[in-house]
Amino acid sequence: MTGDIGYPQIKRLYECLYTDPDFIEKLQNDPRGVANKLRMDSDPGQILDTAEKIKTLSGNENPFIFYYGERMQKVSEEITKKTGPDCFFDKRLYELGRTVKNRMSVSSIRIRLHPNVRYYPMMFELTQGCSQHCPFCGFDAKELSGVFRYNSKNSVQWKQILGIIRDVVGPAAGMGICYFATEPFDNPDYELFINDFRDVFGRTPQTTTALGLKDPQRLRRFIRGISSHDMYCGAVRISVRSLEEFYRVMSEYSPEELADIEIISNNPESSSQYSASGRKYGREEGCADYSICCLAGLRVNMASGTVCFEEPEMPDKDHPTGERIYETLSFSDASSFEKAVRYLTDRYAFDGIKDNDTLFFDRCVKVEINGNEVLLSGDGVRLHMTGNNLFIDAVRLIKDEKLSAAELAEGLNVSGFVKDILFEKLVRIYKKGYLRILPEG
Ligand code: SF4
Repeated sequence: MTGDIGYPQIKRLYECLYTDPDFIEKLQNDPRGVANKLRMDSDPGQILDTAEKIKTLSGNENPFIFYYGERMQKVSEEITKKTGPDCFFDKRLYELGRTVKNRMSVSSIRIRLHPNVRYYPMMFELTQGCSQHCPFCGFDAKELSGVFRYNSKNSVQWKQILGIIRDVVGPAAGMGICYFATEPFDNPDYELFINDFRDVFGRTPQTTTALGLKDPQRLRRFIRGISSHDMYCGAVRISVRSLEEFYRVMSEYSPEELADIEIISNNPESSSQYSASGRKYGREEGCADYSICCLAGLRVNMASGTVCFEEPEMPDKDHPTGERIYETLSFSDASSFEKAVRYLTDRYAFDGIKDNDTLFFDRCVKVEINGNEVLLSGDGVRLHMTGNNLFIDAVRLIKDEKLSAAELAEGLNVSGFVKDILFEKLVRIYKKGYLRILPEG
């Protein structure tokens, strides 16, 4: 399709086009110079021709989509297989992930149209805070203040905790990652922790680093320890924060070295859009209204010895980082960790409406009632329902104010199986992502 230009070079050209709006012009003005800078050894005329095809052609005519589409499909199938219901020992966490995905899809068409947005039940952090100060950090990461080192005591605790998580959550916990509002390579022992993770879950968790240039030999050694299958499935990503940093990464690593490594173009000129959360919350025009949080469940920080239960929220004044953190508990050893994890899961993973739960429609949802019909509208998506007077009255009450389940039942004067049937219907709306049911706390 593109002569002797293979996938690694095609991918590199795509990344240049995506990251640098002036790339084609630069290539037209100095094809050989740009090719050298990009470490591409194909004929410069052919490089320019391929770049123009990537920029202008659609579907499988486009050389990048031709190769990348197939890869994305395989990765997507792999994720689906490893996050299916059979991979969860705790089905409440599986259901929570699905519900959160529906909710975020109702709130944001951007999330709905993204082919690979998932909400995982588990995330680890191996440092406290982050050494980088990315101006767009969606989590507004705090200053680096602690590192969980791989010493004899901590390595034992880490393995125990991985085992507990696998037993409580199930194999799906292996789809989690070992960084969140942190930079993985801030931890000098990151690789050792990942080796243990791989032993327990049989896969390398994804690593996204902003430190692709800090110690290239360290990154190369890390990559050599990852199987080709895991690399193909996106085990490593490099975030670039400026155009200058992007071109330095291109000069440091050959196209072949980065063939399986995604470049996350976080420079302001790129085609990416920042999330209007964290450091960008309320501060800049042009950011997209979505949360970067991909967790619906437990976040463990090994450096501070804490575990919390959280899920994403659309960024707002109460949740500027796009997260709702329900509760954070401390642990000191494997036993207190297990106790905390079981408590948090029992308390915050939805398992039917309880009296003290609060019911309300998401702020992204518009509610219209017409006779016995209810129309719920999100960002480009709608749910049409009909119901008896009791259901319509329930929707009207919840629409007007946040209510506890007990207050709703009292306001409608329902109990017993009539209440059960009504609540079942409300749970269906909750699971579709339109209604919120929040536990007390
Ligand atoms: S975006 Fe990542 S690397 Fe940058 S400050 Fe935030 S957590 Fe750190």
